Amino acid sequence: MDAPLIDPFARAIEYLRISVTDRCDFRCVYCMSENMTFLPKKDLLSLEELDRMCSAFIRLGVKKLRVTGGEPLVRRDIMTFFNAMGRHLDSGALDELTVTTNASQLARFAKDLYAAGVRRINVSLDTLNEQKFADITRWGRLPQVLKGIDAAQDAGLRVKINTVALKGFNEDELFTLTEWCASRDMDLTFIEVMPMGDIGNEDRFGQYWSLKDVRARLEESYSVSDLSERTGGPARYVQLSETGQKIGFITPLSHNFCESCNRVRVTCTGDIYTCLGQEGHSDLRGPLRSSESDAILEEAIRAAIALKPRGHDFDYSRQRVDGQVSRHMSHTGG
Ligand code: SAM
Ligand code: SF4
Repeated sequence: MDAPLIDPFARAIEYLRISVTDRCDFRCVYCMSENMTFLPKKDLLSLEELDRMCSAFIRLGVKKLRVTGGEPLVRRDIMTFFNAMGRHLDSGALDELTVTTNASQLARFAKDLYAAGVRRINVSLDTLNEQKFADITRWGRLPQVLKGIDAAQDAGLRVKINTVALKGFNEDELFTLTEWCASRDMDLTFIEVMPMGDIGNEDRFGQYWSLKDVRARLEESYSVSDLSERTGGPARYVQLSETGQKIGFITPLSHNFCESCNRVRVTCTGDIYTCLGQEGHSDLRGPLRSSESDAILEEAIRAAIALKPRGHDFDYSRQRVDGQVSRHMSHTGG
């Protein structure tokens, strides 16, 4: 392996989240507007380019690769990419290949993902009520997603459910979701909703529900104990002693994990973001396309990592428009 990626604050960069498409078959109200304009195809990294990009990061020490989007499983021929990444698992260069998905295509792809070497997946699901599911995702249908989750578990994939906590929307399902996950041996993580730019006025759904409050509500019915486990990311975990289940809390904009941040994101257009809380990014697509050799790309990756900020800018509210992060989660990858 080449010299590993160490940022100016001595953090080894071992985790890459890569967005493989900005498209999606759902239109979740907190993520997209109903009439999204997607990027022209030529701007997206091709499957071969995604392979080159990720392989370069893996050569430089990335051990964990999460594939996200948009909806990664709607990208045409995406299994070619998963299979290609499987070779890095086989060689031992990569420890984990994983995916974040809305599960709509899992009935089709679960077995293939397992065969490619994926063992754990994150599925985003905010409600178990069919009508509410249709409302929040606009285009999604719950039975299809539940079939996808069944297929994933049947294929041997470990499933973690990610639920965006929304006041007045899924507050009343806190215990239903928790018990449902426990009964299916799935961990559950709550995500605090982030105000995203330009997705229309969705006040009816997009209401902020603090995870402190979610936790307090759980404590009314369960014995909740903190787990020391950290993943270098914004998640904190607790265990419910009654069910043995692990529950995560992700507060994406909290400032408390920057010291251990080991991750970077690459968008479907090849921009690298080294901090979710900041707008600063660098182009890797230019360097990638400028040469068939990866030397220029690797140099650009190192240069970008050298700019990774120490943490969320204390004044980063200035970089947001009306209190909103101006880029889309579906572009950067959630
Ligand atoms: N389509 C896939 C999915 O839904 O799992 C992967 C991409 S999606 C952008 C990744 C995660 O971001 C999902 O769990 C979604 O709930 C979350 N997300 C999207 N918009 C968000 C927002 N405004 N605030 C918090 N989480 C958000
Ligand atoms: Fe699609 Fe995921 Fe965004 Fe929902 S959260 S619109 S499933 S990308």
